[in-house]
Order: sequence, then C-alpha cells, then structure tokens
Amino acid sequence: MMQNSLYPWQANLWQDWLAQGRFLGQAYLLSGPDGIGISAFAMAMAQGVLCQSDGVDACQNCAQCHQFGQQTHPDFLRLALLEDKKEISVDQVRALNEQVYRTSHQGGYKVVLIEQVEHLNRSAFNALLKTLEEPPTKTVMILTTHQWHQLPATLISRCRQLRFAVPPLDAVMTWLHQQLPQADDRLLKKALKLNWGLPISAKDWIEAKAFDLEATWQTDIKSLQQQRTSISQLVDKWKKWSAPEIVFDYFYLWTVNYIRAAVYGEKLPYDPNWLVFQKSVLQARQLWQQNVNKDLLLESVCLEWLQCQQADYQPNPALQTPMIRGDQI
Ligand SMILES: [Zn+2]
Repeated sequence: MMQNSLYPWQANLWQDWLAQGRFLGQAYLLSGPDGIGISAFAMAMAQGVLCQSDGVDACQNCAQCHQFGQQTHPDFLRLALLEDKKEISVDQVRALNEQVYRTSHQGGYKVVLIEQVEHLNRSAFNALLKTLEEPPTKTVMILTTHQWHQLPATLISRCRQLRFAVPPLDAVMTWLHQQLPQADDRLLKKALKLNWGLPISAKDWIEAKAFDLEATWQTDIKSLQQQRTSISQLVDKWKKWSAPEIVFDYFYLWTVNYIRAAVYGEKLPYDPNWLVFQKSVLQARQLWQQNVNKDLLLESVCLEWLQCQQADYQPNPALQTPMIRGDQI
C-alpha cells in the first residue's frame, strides 16, 4: 500500500522498497534534487522498519507507529544540519554513534536518518564511515543527499542506492492542480519553469506568493538601471527576504523572456550577451547552495546584469566555469 505521506511519482520506488520485505540492507542512500519529496520517502522507510507488522510498510496502528507519529520513538535517531550551522560536525556524529551502539529501547530495529549527508565535514564523514563499516545488528541507516557527486566513494559504496529523478511533467501538473485548485495552467507552468520542474518547490513558490515579490524585484532592477539605487542597497534589501536566492530565478526568467522576444522579432535587438549572462545566473544559483559569501554572489550577478548591457561586456570568469569553488568569486 502507498503511504499517504508519499507523493504519487514515488510509487515505483516505494514498490521496490516493499518488494525487499524484511531483507533489509544496513545502509541506504537516497539521492536526487531537493523539492521532490526525498525526505518524506526517507521518513516512510524509517517508520516501515520500526513498525511491528510484517514487511516494511507501516501499519499506522501499532504502538511503534504511534510513537513514530508523535516523534517520540526512542529507536529513531535523526541527524541534520543544526540551525545557523554550515556543517554537520564530528561531535554530532560521535554522539549519534554512541546511541547507535546502545541496545535498542524496544528490542527491535534502530533506524538512523541522516538528512543531506553532504553537509558532513571530513572528520564527520570519517566518524560515520566507521559505523557504516561495522554497523551494529538490527540497525538501518538511511542517508539522503542532494549532492551525490560531492560524497566520498567510500560512503556511496557502502549503501544501497535509491535514485530519485525529477518526475514527468504530466504527473507533476496533475498533482499541482490537485494541491492548488485555484491556480491556472499558466501560473503552474511558470512556477515549474522557475523551479527546474521540481513540484514541491513550485508549490512552495506559488504559496509564498513569489509572483508579488517578482514585481518588487522588477521595480528594483529598473531603479538600478536608472541609477536611482545602488547594488549594495538592493542586496541589503533582498537579503531580508526569506529566500533571497529567488532573485536568481527572476534574473533567469527575465533572460528567457528577453531572448524569446528578441528571437521572435518583437523589435528587440538580439544580444548574445544575454545568453552568457543566463549561464552566469545558473552558475550563481548553484554556488548559492555552497559555502560562499552570499552578499558577494548577489552583488556579482547585479553587476554582471548591468555590465552585459554595455558593448564592452566581459563576463565574470568565476561565474562561467561549471562547479568551481565559491571562494573564487
Ligand atoms: Zn505499525
């Protein structure tokens, strides 16, 4: 049976999970982009392991399921990035290891969930690897990541892999229509385009009324262009938004619309600089997820936007090389 907390596009992976029954692996790595519900899937797996029923599909009725639902299950250990921290520390992992090697409270399985395992720093990885090498019996480790390529091969090789892909557009549109019956096709498609086809991100974007914010952004960059405001004033303002990185989406959409309008001959000059700038925006958005100076990144994109309207535009090399370290900006 499909758990209610899961998303319709996860049905096949859930079937695979159920098919193995109690032939559990010791560690699983769930990888894929943010915004498609990997965390919900990991929680359903954890509950399924802890549930008293046969198999790994949670019954929702037993004492274990009840405790899990109340978030009080003593054999469910969860590790995530602490607020205001950029890394998961070795101390956090050591504390977890200690609990892992204690006997379970209920005599059954223990489940460890580490979300976004890419946040572990090097010594934290090493501490975790030891547990993955010699895991205690009846313990299932579930790791999730949005940055699969950043993980050490030694960690990946010790886990069974569950890969999550961006779901197909028709499945996503059906789900979005159910979730947001008041939203029309145009808005849903716009939200999806801005959010890389990621359904949950698109839904959050619409619910956060991000299109109102977009109007503010348009006024902002117009005043920048007319030199009525400075880049640092704008960056200060955007930084107060709950998710300032949304300005990259706006810049991106702006270039898409501009290029399309120019190509279809709406009396705009076609300027190849916009394609170069578009690449910079994509790169900046990726860098945002990493350990970079956020002010500088926002400022560079604004500056780039102003400069690429000049004839002698020279793109910022730091924003043109794929997957560089952010500290080069
Ligand atoms: Zn149960």
